[in-house]
Amino acid sequence: MSLVGRIHSLESFGTVDGPGIRFVVFLQGCTLRCQFCHNPDTWEAHKGTEYTSEQLIQEIIKYKSYMDFSGGGVTFTGGEPMLQAEFLLEVAKKLKELNISIAIDTSGYVWNEAVKELIDISDIVLLDIKNYDPRVYETVTGVELAPTLRLLEYLRLNHINTWVRYVLVPGLTDNLDSIRKLSDHLKNYPNVSKIELLGFHKMGEFKWKELGLDYKLSDTKEPAKELLSEVKALFEQSGIVVSANV
Ligand code: SF4
Repeated sequence: MSLVGRIHSLESFGTVDGPGIRFVVFLQGCTLRCQFCHNPDTWEAHKGTEYTSEQLIQEIIKYKSYMDFSGGGVTFTGGEPMLQAEFLLEVAKKLKELNISIAIDTSGYVWNEAVKELIDISDIVLLDIKNYDPRVYETVTGVELAPTLRLLEYLRLNHINTWVRYVLVPGLTDNLDSIRKLSDHLKNYPNVSKIELLGFHKMGEFKWKELGLDYKLSDTKEPAKELLSEVKALFEQSGIVVSANV
């Protein structure tokens, strides 16, 4: 039997969600409500298009030669992919048999047996840490920080290659003291091979408007190069490679 998942969209030549050329699967559904989200159209779990695991695998394998050639693979993102962990697990097991590398881009909020199994067979996890101050995290996302840090710990204990992602939003996530503390915290995680610092942009603003949602960041500017450089330098104190769109 083939499980059914709800998919927002597919992108066959992604280059920003993990190493190499990637087939990117945007899963439908997210329980967070990040103020800077550029995919609010992924939030509602009942929307999107239904795919059986077999249908999705057939889509993915068309691009296997590009993935192999570039050292890429498949990235599951969203939305929050872990909300459909059972479906993805069925897909991922088959992809492993086909020697296709798997990345998961997650906020770390969802945890259950299927999530654990999926993490265990993934090649890389892109963990989005929206803020290190629990109060700011809750303001930004509407949920608690603790599950994200628990997943980070699980990834360390199981030696799973991890990239940490941090979106820098002026006036919201540019609290330098908490960035410094996050950088210090990450010193203890040899499994974290990269920190990706992403400057806030407003490319998703129109989606908020189309959905009739209240976008709070209309007056927020993209971070200045000086601020990005300063935050990059703070993260570099962790000793981990930092990439930034400076
Ligand atoms: S976790 Fe991702 S998809 Fe969900 S609200 Fe935040 S930015 Fe949007």
